[in-house]
Amino acid sequence: MDLHIHTVLSPCGGLDMGAPDIVSQALATGIDCIAITDHNSCGNAGAVMEAADNTPLVVLPGLEVQTQEDIHVLTIFPLLERAREFEAWLRQGFLAIPNEPDIFGEQIYLDRNNDILGEEPLLLVHGVQYPIDDVVAETHRRGGFAVLAHVDRPSFSYVAVLGEVPKHYPVEGVELSKNLSPKAAEEWRSRLEGHSLVRSSDSHSLDTLIKEHGSLMVLKEVSFEEVLMALQNRQGRRVLWPWGG
Ligand SMILES: [Zn+2]
Ligand SMILES: [Zn+2]
Repeated sequence: MDLHIHTVLSPCGGLDMGAPDIVSQALATGIDCIAITDHNSCGNAGAVMEAADNTPLVVLPGLEVQTQEDIHVLTIFPLLERAREFEAWLRQGFLAIPNEPDIFGEQIYLDRNNDILGEEPLLLVHGVQYPIDDVVAETHRRGGFAVLAHVDRPSFSYVAVLGEVPKHYPVEGVELSKNLSPKAAEEWRSRLEGHSLVRSSDSHSLDTLIKEHGSLMVLKEVSFEEVLMALQNRQGRRVLWPWGG
């Protein structure tokens, strides 16, 4: 399971993050399910979902939202249509900052075969004018779930901006970075007691998209519903502690 992957739509994303390329790399490394989470957009999620047609890989549509407080949160949806509706809402909170590809990088829309459909003119990586509480509530209203991204990082994380994550904060999961040592991860585990913890690759290039950067979940089958049940620790579904032991 790897719930945090960028494509060429993210300006910081490598140009190797095309739709069929992500699918074949995920399959080659033995990943069963990925979420496509570009910054503030789900514009390439459909291309990756289509590229995975007739393969065993399950692709969930999502976004990595940057909130008003500059917190990154993954919002993942059962259907592309729900993700698009959420993005339409999110865009009402965009600041109209044009992208400058020479400075920030290109933001490319593509189809399932990597044919380029166009470029996003507005800079996607910026804090939208909605606070984290509103973003999480709107995600739930659209049938999605929310995972606080890389909370161990010193910037763009809930902890860096607002401090400790409240025990009953209404997100389904909290993500820890792939590079944490087992010891540091254990410390976060006790700080985040009560939350389901996942590890993801946050891949911006294909070389980091390996199963060792992801998480293991106990599921009956691979689907949005089952992943949600695992995050909620319901009916025997669960997330295994990524660092083992
Ligand atoms: Zn991030
Ligand atoms: Zn990311």
